[in-house]
Parts: sequence; C-alpha cells; structure tokens
Amino acid sequence: MKLSWKSIALHHKILAALVLGAVFGAFFNVSRYELEVTTRKDRITESHIVKNWSAIDFFRAETVKIASFGREDQLNILQFFKRLPAKERKELMMRVKVEETGPAVIKEEWRRFDNIASIEKVKTIAVQIKPVGTIFIRLLMFVAIPLVLASLIIGAASLGDITRVGKLGGKTIAWYIATTAIAITIGLTFVNVLQPGTRLSGDARDKLMVEFQGDLAADIPPVDLVDMLVNIVATNPINALASGEMLQIVFFALMIGVSLTLIPQKRAKPVVDFFDGVSDTMIKMVGMIMTIAPYGVFALIAATVGEFGFDILQTLLWYVVTLVAALSVHTFGVLGTAVRFLSGIPYKKFFIGIREAMLVAFTTSSSGATLPVNMRVCEQNLGVPKKITSFVLPLGATINMDGTSMYQGVAAVFIAQVYGFDLGLAEQLTILFTAILASIGTAPVPGVGIIMLIIVLRAVNVPEEGIALILGIDRFLDMCRTVPNIVGDATISTIIAKQEGVLQTR
Ligand code: ASP
Repeated sequence: MKLSWKSIALHHKILAALVLGAVFGAFFNVSRYELEVTTRKDRITESHIVKNWSAIDFFRAETVKIASFGREDQLNILQFFKRLPAKERKELMMRVKVEETGPAVIKEEWRRFDNIASIEKVKTIAVQIKPVGTIFIRLLMFVAIPLVLASLIIGAASLGDITRVGKLGGKTIAWYIATTAIAITIGLTFVNVLQPGTRLSGDARDKLMVEFQGDLAADIPPVDLVDMLVNIVATNPINALASGEMLQIVFFALMIGVSLTLIPQKRAKPVVDFFDGVSDTMIKMVGMIMTIAPYGVFALIAATVGEFGFDILQTLLWYVVTLVAALSVHTFGVLGTAVRFLSGIPYKKFFIGIREAMLVAFTTSSSGATLPVNMRVCEQNLGVPKKITSFVLPLGATINMDGTSMYQGVAAVFIAQVYGFDLGLAEQLTILFTAILASIGTAPVPGVGIIMLIIVLRAVNVPEEGIALILGIDRFLDMCRTVPNIVGDATISTIIAKQEGVLQTR
C-alpha cells in the first residue's frame, strides 16, 4: 500500500506533529544569553542583538547607576525593564560589556544604548511560527461558545421536563464532585509522601522568587469566592456570550433549556430545532478545523518548547514529578477503571477513542477549545448519544476539572513545604474543599488554574507570593492538567449514558 499524508489517520498525524514540534522547539530553543534591544529615536526604530554579555549596567541620567546584572541574569534584566515606569525608561542608558575570550586574547568591549523602547528575548523560528497554533486555538474557541449555548439548550430541553433536568443535572454534578475529590486526595497523598517542597534548596527558592515575583503582581487579579458565586448570574447574557464567560453562559443556557420544557410544545419546537441545527453545524465545523490540527499542534508545541527554560524544569523536578505522577494515576488508573467497571467500555477502547481530544487538550491547554473535539469523539467513538454529550460535556468543561483541582492541592502543599509550614489534617481537608470550589471557578482556558490557586492558599494562610515559585513552570503543567480535565468529563458522560440506558455499545 502506498503511504501518503492523506491516508494517515488524523490522530497519528497529530501525534507525529507533537513529537516533531517538540524536537523542533528544543532545537530552536530561545537562548538565555541573548537579548533584543529595540531603540527608538525621532521615529527611527532600530533593533540590536546583544549576545554573551559578561555585565549589563543601567544608568539614570547618564551617571547614576541604578542596576547591575551578570551573565546569568537574562530573566532579571527583562523583569527590571518591565517594572520600570515609562518616565524612567526615557532617560535610561544601558551599558553592555562583552568579553570575547580567544586562545590568547581577551577582548573587552562596552556597548551603549539610549532611548530604549523594549528589551526582549530573541525569538527563534520555533517561536515565530506560533501564530499558526494560535489560529488553531482561536478556531476551536470560536466554535466552543455557540456550541456550549446550543448544546446545553437542546440538552436541557430534550430531557422533557424540569424534574428530569434537575435529576440528571444533580447526578452529573455529584459525579463531577466525587471524581474531583478523588483527584485532590490522590494529589495530596503524593505531595505528602514525596515532599517535593522540602527538596528545594534555599538558593533555588530565592532565585525563583526574584525572577517571577514581578510577573505575579501583574498577573493576579483579586479573587473572591462570594463574587465568583454571584457572577454565575449574568446581568446581560449577550455580554456573557460576547466575552466568553463560560459559567454565565452555562447557567443562561440551562435556564433557557428548562424554560423551553415549560412552554407549549408548539412554541418550543422551532426554538429547539434552531439550536439543534446550530449545534450540528458547529460539530461539522469542528471536523473541518481538525484537518489542520497537525499544523496547529506542531506550531504550538514548537513555540512552547522553544520558549521553555529547561533549567527551571531541573530546579522544580521533584514538584513536576510529583504532580505528573499523581495526574497519570488519576487519569489512567482511576478514570480508566471507572469507565471499565461503571460503563462497561474496555479500557483500551476508551483511551483510543478519546486520544484525539487528549492530544488537543495537551497542546492547547484549554478545556474550552477541546470541548468541541471531546463531544465529537465521545459521540462517534464511544457511543454516547448527543442527548447526553450535549448536556454533560459543556457542563463538565466548565465546572469539572480533575487535573486543575489536583494541581491546586499539590501546589498549595508544595508552597507550604517550601516555606516550612506544617499543614495538619484540618488544613488538608480545607485544601480539599477549597480546591473543589476553586476548580469550579476556573475558566476553561490556559493559565487560570494558577490564579484561582490563591483561593486555596488564602484558606490555609499560606503566603500568596509563593505562587512566584511555580509560575515559571506553569505553562507546561497547564498542558498536563488539562488532559485529566477533559478525560474526567468524557468518563462521566459514558457513566451517565450507561445509567440512563442509552450508551450505544457497538
Ligand atoms: N487550562 C485549564 C483548562 O482549560 C485550566 C487551568 O487549570 O488553568 O482546563
């Protein structure tokens, strides 16, 4: 048989793209010893590459030295510039000392830069192709919002009456909370046994704090549990749709679905038919979008690996190992077994069936973007009818995050261990409870889990600044935790379908 690109199955293409993208990104990894300094004077912009410095000094008003950095300080230099008020940037002068060491000569050279507009890492080709991946994520997100709205409306409406919606909703949420609690318990067990926080040296801790504290202040908005609850109800649902507020959209759609069951059939039918059509159209669109998935995945992975600081992986190795081990046990142990025994789908069939969704979750770090793919594979490969996927999966993508909740539990204890705090059983239970709530409030998009972690830290009085310790590795861990987030949803959809007697076993 002749092997052509067209004849290869899509999941194989995506997997190949993932591996090739990672290799490409590692090869074109962004250098720690290069900076791109852009200067702007009289509307003339110039870009300069600064390499292999041995010292970089910054001066105010030509003479007053305000900061001094060494060879290893790329991140600190970027931070320093980012935090500098615009006014001070104007009168900033940068002096770079470059030493060229030959066999016998040591050449020393100072370069001077004024009117600095920006200082950035030098982007490699691996990072430059990122827009291809961003388009892929955006295409999936653009399907996700209308899909969530339409599916949940028809999902709730097709159940026929309000008591069935309530019953099925209650059952689904109970399953979601149960699996989330199991996930956190597994995470807490791993972090307490392996003690990754006590294995981090004081030096490494101080270095991480200095490098990432600046990002922290900028990234973290105030989070409040009561506000979170109040916010589920949108004052203007159109606004919620426009700004992609998932929890608000879910609530709004459920309310419409339920109300449709309460008005005369004749009036409700055209509305339901309309949204049914919208949902089918969106699912069809996902099929089209997925044909470019290999390119999107390649670009996303290449850019992530290309930007990745491998040193930080080394520094936080124990933390990463703890979390990845716990996430794997939950995904392949607990969830896989639950599917096998509670829905009767063989272990292998389940994971093969949803592998496309798992790959997309890993590369996009977004349960929201993966939702359309998850719905498609659960219907087509696992035999979960649309009636169930359209209700259970959008709800799950928004409120059920096994990976994120486990991550929040592990991260909270890790930070406490680094600070030398002893968390007793009562505190660990508080973590369990608040991580369930925090994960419910986490939006299904990249990087929100770490922001919601604040709720957990506050509940057990662990300093919020500790987040700086794990900020540098978050991009990678976000990819890892998003996989169980969507596998958990798929798991529950099969269990509910089985319990409702509608799982189509082929
Ligand atoms: N990226 C995760 C998701 O979309 C959320 C998070 O933990 O940041 O499921």
